[in-house]
Amino acid sequence: MNYEPDEQGYFGEYGGRFVPETLVAPLDELTAAYYGVRDDGAFQAEFHDLLKNYVGRPSPLYYAKRLSETLGGAKIYLKREDLNHTGAHKINNCIGQILLARKMGKKRIIAETGAGQHGVATATVCALFGLECVVYMGTEDMRRQEVNVFRMRLLGAEVRGVDSGSRTLKDAINEALRDWVTNVETTYYLLGSALGPHPYPLMVRDFQSVIGREAREQILEHEDRLPDVLVACVGGGSNSIGLFHPFLNDDVRMIGVEAGGRSNSIGEHAARFMDGGNVGVLQGTKSYLLQDNDGQIAMTHSVSAGLDYASIGPEHAFLHDTGRIEYVSANDDEALAAFETLSETEGIIPALESSHAIAHAMKIAPTLSRDHFMIVNLSGRGDKDINTVREELGN
Ligand SMILES: *Cc1c(COP(=O)(O)O)cnc(C)c1O
Repeated sequence: MNYEPDEQGYFGEYGGRFVPETLVAPLDELTAAYYGVRDDGAFQAEFHDLLKNYVGRPSPLYYAKRLSETLGGAKIYLKREDLNHTGAHKINNCIGQILLARKMGKKRIIAETGAGQHGVATATVCALFGLECVVYMGTEDMRRQEVNVFRMRLLGAEVRGVDSGSRTLKDAINEALRDWVTNVETTYYLLGSALGPHPYPLMVRDFQSVIGREAREQILEHEDRLPDVLVACVGGGSNSIGLFHPFLNDDVRMIGVEAGGRSNSIGEHAARFMDGGNVGVLQGTKSYLLQDNDGQIAMTHSVSAGLDYASIGPEHAFLHDTGRIEYVSANDDEALAAFETLSETEGIIPALESSHAIAHAMKIAPTLSRDHFMIVNLSGRGDKDINTVREELGN
């Protein structure tokens, strides 16, 4: 099957473009520019050169022997995106988009950030190319993530606090879109996940698909056949679709893990496919989103800031409905337990986001036979989460 969006950017009934009139022409320009470089040898060569020499790719595919043997079932391989420069998968997308921005002649880059991870990755690639960088961030998030705010400033970015709404990611995206509308001639909006209006979900997925292409080659080297299961955490959906996409036409089971938060009640989690998730439009795209009884965007909660968002990328909505990908959730406590287990059994401290994927792998590995094997995407490292975990475990 062909998993390309249609010309309007729809994956089935999801995706598209729900934006103010002023953004239609800029998104058309961006789409044309992107399709122009998608199969361009020189562009792709430069992209892969930077992934290799700046990001440090390919990231290893590591057999977690002690973890697997402790669980006593399927073998678990970890795709080590945590070893990338800046500590997570987000840099892959930032490298791709900064090259596109440069190609389009844009001198000013804007981005939104929640926990600060995408902001740091964007500030990093702007420093690399000497481009002006403005990052929008909710003031509540700035308070919770002051080290990342400082890191972005060290890298030469301007961090603009957003004081509206809940003062978190959703509000930062609104401000970034507003800036883009005003400064569209000079400015490139570097979006951080497989979300937003067409062509972003497609473009981000393509740039992140390097994860799955590498994993496929690496697992064939290790095991001489494709894996039985792939597992990845799903916030906006970029690390998961990056791993999954190159396997969609294979006989491989895929599981996306959302944030189950504190409980199953609306407001206490960020699992868009759980009860309370409905189809709607948020921030330029049509997908599943969490709404309260009045149809307002619901509050969300997760111990991991990177999964704490009310909507999910449109391609996931489509793959959910077709049944090609299964979606489950892991809650805060399960993620914290997985965080500790991986640290203790493998000497690898995972990001709290990635810990959700580990938690689910730990649940299913013992139910699968020893000749099965799975790949879990370790989307990032846990250094940024040390203080959160210390507080949570203290409680
Ligand atoms: C941002 C982030 C995520 C969630 O974003 P996706 O777009 O769903 O991948 C997951 N893991 C880490 C380490 C992150 O920084």
